[in-house]
Amino acid sequence: MGPDDARRDVFAFDYQPPPTRVGFGAGVLDTLPRLAAELGLRRLLVLSTPGRVALAATAADLLGARCAGQFTEARMHVPVAVADRARAVARELAADGCVAVGGGSTTGLAKALALDPGLPYVAVPTSYAGSEMTPVWGLTEGGRKTTGKNPAVLPRAVLYDPDLTLTLPARTSVASAMNAIAHAVEALYAPDTSPYVALLAEDGVRRLVAALPEIVRAPGDRVARGDALYGAWLCGSCLGVTTMSLHHKLCHTLGGALDLPHAETHTVVLPYVLAFNEEAARDRLEPLKRALNTWYPPTALQELARDLGAPRSLADLGMAADDIDRVAELVLAQSPFANPRPVSLDDVRGLLRAAHAGSDV
Ligand code: NAD
Repeated sequence: MGPDDARRDVFAFDYQPPPTRVGFGAGVLDTLPRLAAELGLRRLLVLSTPGRVALAATAADLLGARCAGQFTEARMHVPVAVADRARAVARELAADGCVAVGGGSTTGLAKALALDPGLPYVAVPTSYAGSEMTPVWGLTEGGRKTTGKNPAVLPRAVLYDPDLTLTLPARTSVASAMNAIAHAVEALYAPDTSPYVALLAEDGVRRLVAALPEIVRAPGDRVARGDALYGAWLCGSCLGVTTMSLHHKLCHTLGGALDLPHAETHTVVLPYVLAFNEEAARDRLEPLKRALNTWYPPTALQELARDLGAPRSLADLGMAADDIDRVAELVLAQSPFANPRPVSLDDVRGLLRAAHAGSDV
């Protein structure tokens, strides 16, 4: 579908829904043992980051005899060395599958094990990253993040339990939600978007944006947490079925090359890329304007994030100005990639300079 086709009454698209079963609701984690039995999994390795050890232990307890052990060393951007250690543990314990309890880092590790040695897994997301809805995997080695697409890395099932997100700190929640919103934004102007994807994107953004102020005010608000996680599922679903553009390329490069925090990087960069693409993608962004109740989404998103205490610039995240040129070159080295308008090296440098300084869009 070309960019002009969105204006026509008759449209065409290709859509492949993920084959993943989804359970949603407060307390749905309790269904994990039954789910494992239904999937025929008997020796599950529970994966988590070091910060989610207690939750991983809860999942292990719930699984009882179906739990083969725990591996709690998941790290952001899936370092190859961590994936190799997890594979060795899985082999040692004769695991026949995994349960990934945590944010995108843990899901990313489960994806590495789904690729090699091919272990099926259940995802229990505790952030809004949305990785569990996508066939995209990533591995990092020597400052370079390699990503690929393979349906084999999709989980067999996802349990979305909003109660598990009550502990996600307000600041992390805001950044994670902006990460989810970035998926919806780039899905709207993706070359393989569709009216159905636009529907998911609009409701996903609307729910996240409505829930965020409540979450910042009261992180334990279960209704707002439910809305936000549901919105994150919708935004992750958009990500899983479309091709991402400049924004995701930029953020992956910044994460891989400089180890910047993933969700916070998305939060800072999104308004700048959106401003860059806004004119070229104007018609496609109507659902976003409705969801944000604005005529100019870049400013609305930047103000929302700042009002809720998000970091303001790449400098705030620890990026040195000296790295701007190198990162810009790494981004361009990946071209051609999808984007509503052409992207030059100077364009990327300019975007990075503005995001580094944290200037208003
Ligand atoms: P994360 O998984 O690293 O979580 C961030 C921190 O928050 C961790 O320390 C974690 O332990 C903690 N945490 C998570 N849930 C919590 C909770 N409920 N309460 C308290 N603390 C909690 O970060 P993320 O932002 O969820 O995911 C980022 C990673 O996911 C990156 O590596 C990114 O590349 C990847 N990702 C991949 C895709 C994909 O489609 N492949 C999509 C989105 C993100």
